[in-house]
Amino acid sequence: MYTLHGIYTENTSFFKGNDPFDLITEYGSPLYVYNEEILRTRCREIKNLVTYENFVPHYSIKSNTNIHLLKIVHEEGLHADVMSPGEIYLALESGFTPEELFYIPNNATPCDMRYAIERGILTSVDSLSQLEMYGTLNPGGKVAIRFNPGIGAGHHEKVVTAGKKTKFGVNPEDIDKVNLLLEKYNLTLIGINQHIGSLFMNAEPYIQSTSFILEFAKQFDSLEFIDLGGGFGIPYHKQEGEARLDMQALGTKLDEVLHSFATDYGKKIQFQIEPGRYIPCESGIVLGTVTSLKSNGGIHYMGTDIGFNVLQRPIMYGSHHDIELYSQDSLPSHTLTPFTVVGNICESGDILAKDRVLPTPHIGDLIGIMDSGAYGFCMSSSYNQRPRCAEVLIESTGAIRLIRKRETFEDLIRNMLV
Ligand SMILES: *Cc1c(COP(=O)(O)O)cnc(C)c1O
Repeated sequence: MYTLHGIYTENTSFFKGNDPFDLITEYGSPLYVYNEEILRTRCREIKNLVTYENFVPHYSIKSNTNIHLLKIVHEEGLHADVMSPGEIYLALESGFTPEELFYIPNNATPCDMRYAIERGILTSVDSLSQLEMYGTLNPGGKVAIRFNPGIGAGHHEKVVTAGKKTKFGVNPEDIDKVNLLLEKYNLTLIGINQHIGSLFMNAEPYIQSTSFILEFAKQFDSLEFIDLGGGFGIPYHKQEGEARLDMQALGTKLDEVLHSFATDYGKKIQFQIEPGRYIPCESGIVLGTVTSLKSNGGIHYMGTDIGFNVLQRPIMYGSHHDIELYSQDSLPSHTLTPFTVVGNICESGDILAKDRVLPTPHIGDLIGIMDSGAYGFCMSSSYNQRPRCAEVLIESTGAIRLIRKRETFEDLIRNMLV
């Protein structure tokens, strides 16, 4: 087998000696493939981010909820953030205890909130009306509040989750109204949290928003923890040599800020962070098959079976994913051509990558979409009635483990009660 543009899977020994063609033969195309070692490495980096002792990272599970991956993250000692009753269910099923979960919903229904309350899972509310709703459901209870620090960050408008123009968080200026509601329902505010957005690649905005929330936190004396949010970015442009987020530099700066706050506050308060993407992203790739090559109006199309039903990020956010090619028989032509790489969905927006300079593959060669472990499978669908694909894990030993079966045609009609 030949790998082209294979810097990532070769450098990381991603397949651990397994042949991607064998994986596709066994589990079908397309296929999500995860590497256990990479997943564990990312968990450990996050776990050891700071030296501050009372530090508990929570994995924001919405980025990948496969139960086998959740079990690994739990084994590595991370706790979890959950957004919905469904995520609570999955987290509990994979072995997290209620004490290890933090529920951070947006616009929750009373029914959603009750699901968490009945299971003893701490909830964070993110508006005054949600605080009122929570108070009526759980008077005398403990609660956390998500504040909007007024600073946003992220790779796309859709993922910036703080700042004046987003729907998230309580405005810090509403603090008097917050206090009235806490009093009215006899609630104890034990935690405050924020999340400024997704995919920052340098420490500055995170440290800045951390400083803001810490300054803001000083007025509360009941706090048991402060949650600084997620958003840790990964380099999606590895083929162009993009540098990683410097976790050591971030950790060092964060450490200073945390220690100094604890000294001022007078106790070693717990600090939490909530990375989503950073944990599983680079441990997952999508493998698919090249099904056609053609030129239309001067554009060279590489047709594949990876539509936006399989990987939504390119169409949803205009995201870049590095692409590798794998050839079985002979070395494909090394002539480089700018390809528009597309899927098999009947919409012209179904584009994985535009003008991507790649060698010309053979029909039947495989294509690998890098860094697809976060916001990949969990955002996939059966649009165009293509059953959702399988997921496999390459274990640290190199053994292959099927962690989700490919759906069948029967799955497509299962809930229609035919
Ligand atoms: C999505 C989300 C996260 C994780 O964001 P990433 O960018 O994937 O790290 C963390 N906290 C909250 C509240 C979120 O909604």
